[in-house]
Amino acid sequence: MGFKSDIEIAQEAQPQDIRDIAKKLGLTEDDIELYGKYKAKVDYNLLKKDNGGKKAKLILTTAINPTPAGEGKTTTTIGVADGLAKLGKNVLVALREPSLGPVFGVKGGAAGGGYAQVVPMEDINLHFTGDFHAIGAANNLLAAMLDNHIHQGNQLGIDARSITWRRCVDMNDRQLRNVVDGLGARADGVAREDGFDITVASEVMAAFCLASDIVDLKARLGRIIVGYNFQGEPVTAEQLKANGAMAALLKDALKPNLVQTLEGTPAFVHGGPFANIAHGCNSVIATRMAMHFADYVVTEGGFGADLGAEKFLDIKCRMADLKPDAVIIVATVRALKYNGGVPKDQLNNENLEALEAGLPNLLKHVENITQVYKLPAVVAINEFPTDTEAEVNLVREKCKELGVNVALSQVWAKGGEGGIELAEEIVRLTSQENDFQFCYEDDLSIAEKINAIATKIYGADGVDFTPQAQKELERLESLGFGKMPICMAKTQYSLTDDQTKLGRPTGFRITVRQLTVSAGAGFIVALTGAIMKMPGLPKVPAAERIDVDENGVISGLF
Ligand code: ADP
Ligand code: MG
Repeated sequence: MGFKSDIEIAQEAQPQDIRDIAKKLGLTEDDIELYGKYKAKVDYNLLKKDNGGKKAKLILTTAINPTPAGEGKTTTTIGVADGLAKLGKNVLVALREPSLGPVFGVKGGAAGGGYAQVVPMEDINLHFTGDFHAIGAANNLLAAMLDNHIHQGNQLGIDARSITWRRCVDMNDRQLRNVVDGLGARADGVAREDGFDITVASEVMAAFCLASDIVDLKARLGRIIVGYNFQGEPVTAEQLKANGAMAALLKDALKPNLVQTLEGTPAFVHGGPFANIAHGCNSVIATRMAMHFADYVVTEGGFGADLGAEKFLDIKCRMADLKPDAVIIVATVRALKYNGGVPKDQLNNENLEALEAGLPNLLKHVENITQVYKLPAVVAINEFPTDTEAEVNLVREKCKELGVNVALSQVWAKGGEGGIELAEEIVRLTSQENDFQFCYEDDLSIAEKINAIATKIYGADGVDFTPQAQKELERLESLGFGKMPICMAKTQYSLTDDQTKLGRPTGFRITVRQLTVSAGAGFIVALTGAIMKMPGLPKVPAAERIDVDENGVISGLF
């Protein structure tokens, strides 16, 4: 189409020395640990440093139900931060770290797009500062200690058929989804069925991202349930005496990574849990640190607002005692048309009827943010080159007619300059107090909490539990896990649990098929369908296009 690719744009930029970026936050060279010239880790002990009682504004970027390609939440998050910087605000971005699975699979990288990116994008998308390797190592140490415990006599009486802990690797590798290990002679371990998850789906990742400090992390890791004993009681990482060493492996990973946007706005990129079986946002430590040093912090939740924002607000904000100041709901003409029934391959053609038919999906998410959570919201129309003027105007006018705040975002094409309208709206919205409230209170039963999410957020008539889920529900409550928040695992494409039901469906119920506890992360996972914890590669993986030349310059990342 004649547009530069994300990596071409990123490689043309001349990033600033990361020490100068740190300086913008009032951090000296002593406060940061350099990982080359453009990356640094920032010690979380700086949270204890006096910041003059600053109270930063926290802004969440979320989206309508997306198309399979993603709708530009990361791009918008970065662009609006650059827009705020252009208005003279002291701003920080807080994002998730990309996983190698999508980088080499279908979606590509996760460092933004166009002129709204964080750099060095190659590093951020590939090994970065090694955090995910550390998380994988911690996960696999626990797996090794678990099987070794059984091999060495199984003092805890672990029932090998009830082991829930799996090994992990940060790669889309379906071949490892189900394996048999421990084969061979007596000395080679105890043979059993096993499997690998992708690292970002590991509970270690979720616990890491929700931990408030290293001591809290160690305690969370200790509570991880690896399986059950012959009496059906949970066996934890602490009982295997694994959590101290696991936390030791994570000591440096737990320090947020400082990078910059193409326009030199500081950004923390740290942690990256799945948005289905986990809560899907960057680490609590990075968000808190960002709020410690900046006046405006823009962060992102995974998937659409029914999953990403719900979990950010009901899980992360609850656990970390955060109070957001405004929510950006990213909408694209493409995703609205998709929700209005247009198939994926025809999204580039103007279609005002379908666009209008898709609007109720957007409005439902706006209502959820403003009426359920009582937070100010603005719709950001993330403009694509394929959008027509008539389409953009239609969305704008419909929003205005209904009293919904709306701003056009051109950050992909223009960087911060294209985000000024949105940034001004954010300044306005965050200058008022709000009455933020959760969708449900902790002390409700598990079923009541799930019911609250399904009816209030999804618009369902109610929830059905399969007999298996009902049994698990009773067991989890009897084990004392009933007061935890709920992490819903649901398709991101629909407000229902059926990915073909687009728009704003009514007259449906949600079916919960399985309930598990992530005791270390601190939530109950409610699965409404089959959720893949180890994805596979597509027929033509993105990896086939990625290359490196004789100068070490990478190409083909997007
Ligand atoms: P999300 O965070 O919602 O998954 P991203 O911000 O990662 O979405 O964007 C997904 C892809 O779409 C990226 O490759 C990005 O370059 C591209 N993209 C985002 N916004 C635009 C836009 N306005 N025009 C063209 N491409 C865009
Ligand atoms: Mg994203």
